[in-house]
Amino acid sequence: MATAYITHPSCLKHDMGPYHPECPDRLNAISDRMIAAGLDGYLARHTAPAATREQLLRVHGANYVEAIEGASPRDGLVYLDPDTALNPHSVEAAKHAAGAVVLATDLVMKGEVANAFCAVRPPGHHAERHRAMGFCIFNSVAVGAMHALEHHGLDRVAVIDFDVHHGNGTEDAFSDEPRVLMASVFQYPLYPYSGVDNPAANMVNVPLPEGTGSEGFRRAVQTRWLPALEAFEPQMIFVSAGFDAHRDDPLAGLRFLDADYAWVTRELCEVAKKHAQGRVVSTLEGGYALPALGRSAAEHVKALIEA
Ligand SMILES: [Zn+2]
Repeated sequence: MATAYITHPSCLKHDMGPYHPECPDRLNAISDRMIAAGLDGYLARHTAPAATREQLLRVHGANYVEAIEGASPRDGLVYLDPDTALNPHSVEAAKHAAGAVVLATDLVMKGEVANAFCAVRPPGHHAERHRAMGFCIFNSVAVGAMHALEHHGLDRVAVIDFDVHHGNGTEDAFSDEPRVLMASVFQYPLYPYSGVDNPAANMVNVPLPEGTGSEGFRRAVQTRWLPALEAFEPQMIFVSAGFDAHRDDPLAGLRFLDADYAWVTRELCEVAKKHAQGRVVSTLEGGYALPALGRSAAEHVKALIEA
């Protein structure tokens, strides 16, 4: 069975200005590298639908969704926080980014594909129920996980987050939600400075000090994530795939390597095979050094293809 590769043209049109690191070329860096690495022929390409209002409201407040829709500009940029802006295409892109994870969930649940990667932006894991922040508008991975629970009737899903920044929005969505186990690593202290003070029991948060590389990452996965996943027995695994913990990334100070993304993906796919019929849905979060982003995403997708 193939690996789905899901994106939408609007994700290239969301643009927060010429100097913003969360730029449209991130998606070109990834798709170019898929071709260069010879992975293109193994991917089932799909165009993302927009997430419906019902799907968004499983995570976000109605007032919040309406405020975002109402803030969409006719031209220029509207700032939601100092780092997060809307251009005329951004709301459409954010809806399709969330819709990509919903479609990925449907394809994997129906058995049409083995697993899926959503090459979408804006990212989502900082978006809280009622707040946009940190380049994120709608929390795509949370919308997908809720779709698996509410539409497909699963009882247990895991959300894995290896972005260098703590996924505060996903934690906001799922704290004390017994059907979800969230496991993450993130550099601490670093934006958004959350994730360490009294996390809920279903949060496996592993803060890593600046400079942590492959060894520290792999130890965290082996000693913290994998035992928690084994105990939880997830029926599906969602991945917030940020690649900004890479050594080359300009926004943070961890030192992961390309091969670490292949390794962690294989480990997660093994858990999925054991408990979840192999079901893994991954979506892009951060990653701002374009060559390292392309290579790391290709390693991640190659491991999904080979799972
Ligand atoms: Zn990040």
